[in-house]
Amino acid sequence: MGKEYGINIWGDNNFIIKNQTVNINHASQPSLLQITQDIRAKGYKGPLLLRFPHLIKKQIDFLYSEFRRAKKEFEYQGTFQAVFPLKVNQFPNFVNALMEVSKEYNYGLEAGSKAELIIAMTHTPLGSPITVNGFKDKEMISLCFIAANMGHNITITIEGLGELETIIEVKREFTKDSKNMITPKIGVRIRLHSTGIGIWAKSGGYSSKFGLTSTELLEAYERIEKNNLLEQLYMIHFHIGSQMSEINPLKKALREAGNIYAELKNRGAFALNAINIGGGLAVEYAQHQESREINYELSEFANDVVYLIKEIAKNKNIQEPDIFTESGRFIASSHSVLIAPVLELFSQDYHENALRLKEKNPPLITELYELWISINQKNAREYLHDAIDHMESLFTLFDLGYIDLEDRSNSEILVNLIIKKAILLISDLSSIEVKKLQNKIQERYLVNFSAFQSLPDFWGLQQHFPIMPIDKLNQKATNPTTLWDITCDSDGEIAFNDKMPLYLHNVDITKEEYFLAFFLTGAYQEILGMRHNLFTHPTEVTVKFTKDGEYYFENLIESQNIMDVLDDIDYDKTFLDKRLKQQIETSSTLSTIQKRELLEKLYLHLSENSYLKTILASKKSKLKKRTI
Ligand SMILES: *Cc1c(COP(=O)(O)O)cnc(C)c1O
Repeated sequence: MGKEYGINIWGDNNFIIKNQTVNINHASQPSLLQITQDIRAKGYKGPLLLRFPHLIKKQIDFLYSEFRRAKKEFEYQGTFQAVFPLKVNQFPNFVNALMEVSKEYNYGLEAGSKAELIIAMTHTPLGSPITVNGFKDKEMISLCFIAANMGHNITITIEGLGELETIIEVKREFTKDSKNMITPKIGVRIRLHSTGIGIWAKSGGYSSKFGLTSTELLEAYERIEKNNLLEQLYMIHFHIGSQMSEINPLKKALREAGNIYAELKNRGAFALNAINIGGGLAVEYAQHQESREINYELSEFANDVVYLIKEIAKNKNIQEPDIFTESGRFIASSHSVLIAPVLELFSQDYHENALRLKEKNPPLITELYELWISINQKNAREYLHDAIDHMESLFTLFDLGYIDLEDRSNSEILVNLIIKKAILLISDLSSIEVKKLQNKIQERYLVNFSAFQSLPDFWGLQQHFPIMPIDKLNQKATNPTTLWDITCDSDGEIAFNDKMPLYLHNVDITKEEYFLAFFLTGAYQEILGMRHNLFTHPTEVTVKFTKDGEYYFENLIESQNIMDVLDDIDYDKTFLDKRLKQQIETSSTLSTIQKRELLEKLYLHLSENSYLKTILASKKSKLKKRTI
């Protein structure tokens, strides 16, 4: 992986390594370190979620420009239109940024629940498309009618025949006394034979939760026609699953959906004019060549979509439909970066300071010491083998009672130091032998974040996210790393994996700060994140740039304080407050002054978020008052 941490694989030119830090490859190219330090200087500690609206814009511009190009290339007549599926990220500072940077495209939103629909109704300008997917009850359909009558360009996607009945019923109620009431557009989600690929493939295929089979589709068509809704039947929709690693399943799905579209059109669906191909456009999360996740690029995706639909339209002699996409992951992933401070390294015992060498040591220990002192590029492999050999012998000697605990400890430390030095010296880090050794000398980094809150897909699906330090990138990192989060759950661990190893630097956290960045966390992670151990959404901030290229912050929102976290899960704050106060006030051992001091301390703690404070941070905060 080297010093770049695969940034050329997953980074998409969004970040660059400059001198020794990771910098934003935009405007004045500030470093993530500088930004992090600025925010921490304002008194915000713990993990930090940085949002970069310019990266949302980049993805949207890219999506539109590729489809524009493909349309031109194939002389495609229909339009291209994207909507953002809110389930991917509903956080206001993301949605607001998305709407702001996408104004020129008439960008729309997709809602899958009533609450998401309210976001869509309040955040899209009139005329921008709103699509409504997922299971719907009468109230939700009624909300869609309300939206349509506000002037929204809204399409209800029918997921099953029952929903069509409800639409007919709601329409009857809305138009009973007022004939001028508008009925929303109708889409039908089709259940394709084709399935997606990968861990999120369940959304497509015959066993999928969603969509109409061809039999149901025919029945739906007849009911739509009979109830005078043909004028509303506007879109067909499919979605074959997220993070499509290959393009072929999409092509199959497109042929299937395209032909269904054409069949309906030729049957008399005169208002039908759009194919919505859902999401699924994938993101490269890999940090190592061998674990790449995608085999296509956006240009190929756009070409295939436009070309295949055009072919079907030509063959079936119909007008080329408008194309809708609902890409979520592709639009949102790159916009946020989680920065988390390392709190501690669990390896101090293997530091040379821990050696307890005696006046007279067993010969093998003396030899190990010599190996450690004199190991160099030339002899590294040989010395390494010798060291491991010696260690085995020393353990045997210990078991037989010939050496004592101190000797045993010395041999562990020395062998560990030798392995580390050898790995540094042997340039071919990927050799199988070295990898095996790394498991022996893994370093555990305790990181101030919760994997459950901030990387739930890692916890639930082993989805990899790019991880790297934001500083010291001029130095080769040699510690094979396991990351521990601060939850009390052993699943809150990103274990060292010799197939995609992570190496971090040797740092003394009591002397210097060391931050890790987790990239591509902008899709799904925030809302799926859970409050295990009551660690909540991290402190977040939006980073923007002035015309001159300087960065500035907006929407700085601190992670919830302890009392609010408890209030959120319905503890009575007043009760908690009273109870705590009472226990101090009724104490028989504390003096009045002591009581007051304890209360002050207590309230200070309650006002802070539940993440840990690094040692350095607490030292500093004595000197520095919070400015915000
Ligand atoms: C989840 C979902 C999407 C978004 O999928 P991505 O893979 O994130 O692009 C799009 N459409 C529908 C119907 C969805 O359920």
